[in-house]
Amino acid sequence: MDILSLVRKNIQKLSPYSTARDEFKGTAEVYLDANENPYPSPYNRYPDPLQKKLKTRISEIKSIAPSKIFLGNGSDEAIDLIIRAFCEPGKDSILITEPTYGMYSVCAGVNDVKIKKVNLTVDFDLDLNALQANLDGSVKVIFLCSPNNPSGNLLSKEKISTLITSFKGIVVVDEAYIDFANAEGFLPSLGKYPNLVVLQTFSKSWGLAGLRLGMAFASEEIISVLNKIKYPYNINILTQNTALEEISSVKEKDRQVKEILEQRLLLIKQLQAIPTVLNVYPTDANFVLVKIKYAKKVYNQLIDHSIIVRDRSTVVLCDDCLRITVGTPEENSKLIETLKTL
Ligand SMILES: *Cc1c(COP(=O)(O)O)cnc(C)c1O
Repeated sequence: MDILSLVRKNIQKLSPYSTARDEFKGTAEVYLDANENPYPSPYNRYPDPLQKKLKTRISEIKSIAPSKIFLGNGSDEAIDLIIRAFCEPGKDSILITEPTYGMYSVCAGVNDVKIKKVNLTVDFDLDLNALQANLDGSVKVIFLCSPNNPSGNLLSKEKISTLITSFKGIVVVDEAYIDFANAEGFLPSLGKYPNLVVLQTFSKSWGLAGLRLGMAFASEEIISVLNKIKYPYNINILTQNTALEEISSVKEKDRQVKEILEQRLLLIKQLQAIPTVLNVYPTDANFVLVKIKYAKKVYNQLIDHSIIVRDRSTVVLCDDCLRITVGTPEENSKLIETLKTL
């Protein structure tokens, strides 16, 4: 598969902005090349545009070569760049499954790229026939979210693999919640699929949503396209340094994930015992989708009790549904106790 031929022509031809530090790659005593203020502070120098130290560390954690890693200002940046690299505005489209994460449509909309929507099945899995029926020549990127937001479940691995091998474009598998799932996801399959992009993030299991750091993993060809069109210094020094410190302990992240999973189990049981709860959907993420009588009203009453959940009741296939993040034991019991009184 020739990935570069899928890239928009103007981007194939583009020469990227070359930073001062790109042109001189070694180390020196005196830097007079970037018009920085010479007086030392932690921030007087521009950050490493390719975040080599941080990628080396992530490469160890994920067992993926640094050349196959892109870091963005949240995975949202990667979503936007993938659309901009592969979809011609006013002409091409992306394919999404509904219900799903909202940013794929927003980024496509901003870029004047059309959106084809195919509903998931009633149990929130891929409908391969419907997907394939919508794959006309205009579709350049398929976005799949697994575990899916807002339903919480993993999509079928076999169906995803079938799509990746049969589709002659880019398939993005958004694994923002993979650390909460009892499955390894698609990272180990990266070498098999040149058209696959796996998105992960430090915003959920790692507890670093405020840092804004997302990861895209893909073939070197795709990663170099993303590097070519990103802002030169997209990850600032504070984020790069703080991330290096914060991800030094994989153990602490794993401990918190384990606790969240225990709480998830308890929360599901307690929700199922509430008479107005009609269904708690199976989840592989750190949230649950709950079908509940009078969802909109419950949502507003919870606000009155200073508890905010996500109202998904107007979303396709999510009638009367609230999406509830698993919190601390105290937060979860406050939610349950409040729901009991409504
Ligand atoms: C939360 C979330 C993200 C994370 O986005 P960041 O920009 O990395 O914070 C990505 N995809 C999905 C499906 C999400 O729910």
